[in-house]
Amino acid sequence: MPTPRAYSVKAYSASSAKSPLAATTISRREPGATDVKIDILYCGVCHSDLHFARNEWNFTQYPAVPGHEIIGRVAAVGPGVKKFKTGDLVGVGCMVDSCRTCPDCQSGLEQFCSGMVMTYGSTDKHLGGGTLGGYAQGIVVTEDFVLRIPENLSPAAVAPLLCAGITTYSPLRHWKVGAGHKVGIVGLGGLGHMGVKFARALGAHVVLFTTSPGKTADALRLGAHEVVISKDDAQMAAHAGSFDFILNTVSAALDLSPYANLLKRDGNLVLVGAPEKPLSVAAFPLLFRRRSVSGSLIGGLPETQEMLDFCGRQGITSDIEVIRMDQINEAYERMLKSDVKYRFVIDMASLK
Ligand code: NAP
Ligand code: ZN
Ligand code: ZN
Repeated sequence: MPTPRAYSVKAYSASSAKSPLAATTISRREPGATDVKIDILYCGVCHSDLHFARNEWNFTQYPAVPGHEIIGRVAAVGPGVKKFKTGDLVGVGCMVDSCRTCPDCQSGLEQFCSGMVMTYGSTDKHLGGGTLGGYAQGIVVTEDFVLRIPENLSPAAVAPLLCAGITTYSPLRHWKVGAGHKVGIVGLGGLGHMGVKFARALGAHVVLFTTSPGKTADALRLGAHEVVISKDDAQMAAHAGSFDFILNTVSAALDLSPYANLLKRDGNLVLVGAPEKPLSVAAFPLLFRRRSVSGSLIGGLPETQEMLDFCGRQGITSDIEVIRMDQINEAYERMLKSDVKYRFVIDMASLK
C-alpha cells in the first residue's frame, strides 16, 4: 500500500496511563476523494476521554489523543465530496468510519458495526497506528461521518451534542420516552444534563438523581421537575415503583438495585455510564415486576443528525465552561470531583 500523503497539526496527547496530557504534533492524511478536511474550532471534554487517556478500559494505544465532540469549519474537500463545501460548520462525534455494508450499517446503527472505527482508539487504516481524536487543530474524516451543524446555535455549546447529546437522546428515543412518562436521569454531569434537557423537551416528567445537593437549583433550571438526593433513603423510597424509564449516566460503578426498585412493572433502567468495574444489581427487584436493565451506545449517523436538527429547532445546547488546551489536566481533575457545569469545551484557538 503506498504511504498516503500527510500533513502536521498541533495536538495534545498522553504518552502513558500515568502521564498528563502534553503538547505534541501529529499527522493527518491529506484528504482523499471523499474526505473532508476540518479546522477544529472547539472540542468537548467527555469522561470517556479521561477513561481512555488513563487506559481505564484496557485498550489504549499511546500516544493517545482523546476528543470526540468536535466542531469545526471545512477547510478543504476531496473531489468526490457531495454534501459539504469549504467554510461549512460541521461536527464529528465518536465514529469516523464503519464497514457500510453490514445489517447495522444498513440500518443507520453504525455504532454497533464490528468494523466501526472510533474517532480515537481504533486502528487508523490510512496512516497506521491508532486513530487520534479531536484535541488537535484539525482532522480529516470521510464525508459520511461528518454532521451538519445548525448555524443558529453557539458552536462551542454545540460540541458536547456530538457525544453527550446523542448518547442521551438515542435511548430516550429508542424507548419512546414522551408525555405521560416519569423519567429518571442519574448523575448531573455532561451526559446527565443533556439527558435532563432532552427528557424535558420530549414531554416527560423528569426526576434528576444526584449525589451533589449543591446541583439542585441547576437541575431545576435545566428542566428537571424534581430532584432526589440519591444518598437519602427516604427520598428514594418515596418514588418506589413509579418510573417508566431511568437513564444511568454515572461514570463510576454503583449498585443498581435501589434504582431498579423505583421502576414500574416492565420499566427499564438503561446504562450509558461506562465504569471500568462491573455494576451490581439484585435479582429480586428485576424478577418481581419484570423490570429490565439495558445498555445503549452513542447513536448512529442518521439519528445524530436528527438530534442536531432537533436541537437547532428547539434551541438546545450544552451548558459549558470554555477552557484553553493547556488547562486540560486540571479539567480532568475537576471532572473527577464532579466539579463541572456541565461540560468543559476546549477552545482550539488556544493551541495555535
Ligand atoms: P461526568 O461529566 O464526569 O458526569 C458523571 C456524573 O456522575 C457526575 O457529575 C456525578 O453526578 C455522577 N457521579 C460521579 N461519580 C459518582 C459516584 N462515585 N457515585 C455516584 N455518582 C457519581 O461524565 P460524563 O462525560 O457525563 O460521562 C459519564 C459516563 O458515561 C462515563 O463513564 C463515560 O465514559 C460514559 N459515556 C458513555 C457513552 C455511551 O455511548 N454509552 C458515551 C459517552 C460517555 P452528580 O454529582 O449529580 O452525582
Ligand atoms: Zn464521549
Ligand atoms: Zn457495518
